[in-house]
Amino acid sequence: MTRSISILGATGSVGEQTLDLIRRNPDEWQVEALTANCSAKQLATFAREFSAKIAVVSDESCLPELREALVGTDIEAAGGRAALCEAASRPVDITVAAIVGCAGLAPVMAAIEQGGTLALANKEALVSAGDVMTAAVAKHGPTLLPVDSEHNAIFQCLQGNDIADVARITLTASGGPLRTWSLDQLRAATPAQAIAHPNWDMGAKISVDSATMMNKGLEYIEAHHLFPVGLDRLKIVVHPQSVIHSMVEYRDKSTLAQLGPSDMRVPIASCLAWPRRMDTPMESLDLAAIGELSFFAPDEARFPATRLAREAIEAGAGAPATLNAANEVAVAAFLAGQIGFMDITAVVESTLNRYSAPAPQTLDDVLNVDREARSAATAQLETA
Ligand code: NAD
Ligand code: MG
Repeated sequence: MTRSISILGATGSVGEQTLDLIRRNPDEWQVEALTANCSAKQLATFAREFSAKIAVVSDESCLPELREALVGTDIEAAGGRAALCEAASRPVDITVAAIVGCAGLAPVMAAIEQGGTLALANKEALVSAGDVMTAAVAKHGPTLLPVDSEHNAIFQCLQGNDIADVARITLTASGGPLRTWSLDQLRAATPAQAIAHPNWDMGAKISVDSATMMNKGLEYIEAHHLFPVGLDRLKIVVHPQSVIHSMVEYRDKSTLAQLGPSDMRVPIASCLAWPRRMDTPMESLDLAAIGELSFFAPDEARFPATRLAREAIEAGAGAPATLNAANEVAVAAFLAGQIGFMDITAVVESTLNRYSAPAPQTLDDVLNVDREARSAATAQLETA
């Protein structure tokens, strides 16, 4: 039986790894929509290879190039934010949400309303929208499957158990490429050093987030929405080998963990095949070769991002959306060489201190908070 699938952010790291899995069993899938921001040629190549029904570039100025690259096919080409949401709203069995940033929120909400399973990689969308998104999921009834490796691990460890019996959820963090650096060294870290992740091959934004630990901060908020056990039961431990992807401890002190290679195709496959399993091309874990697994408490003096995220979710209202927007602005400025590495979290903190956003009730409210927080953060860049 074939299943229909749309991939939002098909040209990115998660999008391409999803396509890599589909490529291995093409007869099982009917590709509906593939989207990108502007990589028109790459998108058209994928759309042709997978016989997609529609290809969408979010940046409308890239549409002529997409049209040109699709000449001679009957694949529909579209451009712009509205077209992206329209494509995301077309009924499919599963949508993989792999756009980076709050830019993915409106299409994710469109996919939720259409009702098919949602495999969510786009953590910034859930961090920003929080209850607005979980309420939409409850209302429209899609199955929400977490692609993020930690949340996918937790989801797997919860199967067959009652969430009421959970004593503690522990998110593991690799600590990123700068884990052992001193504060002075961190102040001088360059974009190239920050994106050189030891275990995972990812897009630039999440790679910087891993280096600052904001990725874990965002994941802490993401976990709070996906697995509502209470913030006091959500913990973070640094585990540099990224072999244990997260753990769930139950009231009887039994801890279940999910282990696997540091390759996103494992959690993506778990979502694509859920509730069954499918083959992946990775090697089995060789624990004897890995030798040792180590664990450390997070150091919030050098990496304040997890503290900021915890404070933002405790503050509630528009604070998580503000944290996310300010981080997106600061990471872009860091990658452009405008601010230093430690300025990223400093800009996030000063934005949170200066802009107090109301609690969003609707998608438009979230997008307003996101816009306001971006301009507040942009103003903070001047002082960084
Ligand atoms: P990426 O930068 O490699 O790809 C992003 C995709 O989104 C691309 O297809 C790009 O064209 C599209 N895109 C970018 N900006 C857009 C915009 N403004 N509007 C519409 N489309 C846009 O990112 P990635 O590493 O694949 O990450 C995607 C999401 O998955 C992020 O939220 C990230 O946090 C999450 N995630 C990634 C990994 C990983 O291993 N890469 C792991 C866990 C979670
Ligand atoms: Mg993760």
